[in-house]
Amino acid sequence: GPSVVLEGVTKSYGATRALDGVSLEIAAGSFVALVGQSGSGKSTLLKTINRLVEPDAGTVRIGDADVRGGPSHALRRRIGYVFQGIGLFPHMSVAENIAVGLRITGERDNTARVADLLALVDLPGDAAARMPDQLSGGQRQRVGVARALATQPRLMLMDEPFGALDPVTRDDLGRAVRALHDRLGLTTILVTHDMAEALLLADRVLVMKAGGIVADATPAELARGG
Ligand code: ADP
Ligand code: ADP
Repeated sequence: GPSVVLEGVTKSYGATRALDGVSLEIAAGSFVALVGQSGSGKSTLLKTINRLVEPDAGTVRIGDADVRGGPSHALRRRIGYVFQGIGLFPHMSVAENIAVGLRITGERDNTARVADLLALVDLPGDAAARMPDQLSGGQRQRVGVARALATQPRLMLMDEPFGALDPVTRDDLGRAVRALHDRLGLTTILVTHDMAEALLLADRVLVMKAGGIVADATPAELARGG
């Protein structure tokens, strides 16, 4: 995947400064966890990268491109985004939910691509015909990940994707996401409030507080330093 570089990124909502001049370089191919208390700016930071949020000041670059160049839908095709709570469409089958991701690329016969994407996230082929409420919570999150991968992005942004899951399922899915990262050569940024999860999965952990990054270390460094 590509590198991601933020320089002096600032964003306020009224009097609330959600991001306070964040500068940051994420190396191509790395898996970065973004941790911090609720309200510290994690989601806002993630959203500036795919232009769901426009910064008031500062620049965001992905690879060589400034993300302000070109239409945001073209940018988003190259970025996988797993939303908080995932949000599958309840009235659509698994295959149709994944096709929502695929449709952006204009592909017509999706059956083979859907099967490939299900296999990628270790779901059985017959899951394609099921409705979201016929899946377990963990399986639903896997569909969300498959949908995010439908456009073959090289950069993966994940906002608390495992939030609603029990610890065992959470652990399973975390490892699956890390394995996908390695296998597909992605650059991954994972927002989580769970430091243990960050330490387990990431190459680098960034801690946010009040719109700024207050710690930046590898899991090994954090384990040593406490
Ligand atoms: P986190 O993801 O760490 O919980 P957020 O990035 O969601 O933090 O929020 C950072 C701050 O910005 C919080 O104070 C939050 O209430 C505020 N905020 C975020 N989005 C909006 C919005 N759309 N409108 C107003 N305030 C917002
Ligand atoms: P544009 O500026 O290109 O019109 P918008 O910000 O209006 O884009 O978003 C268009 C639609 O795409 C919205 O419904 C939004 O929820 C959705 N969207 C935004 N970002 C993403 C994303 N990363 N993945 C999937 N859908 C997204």
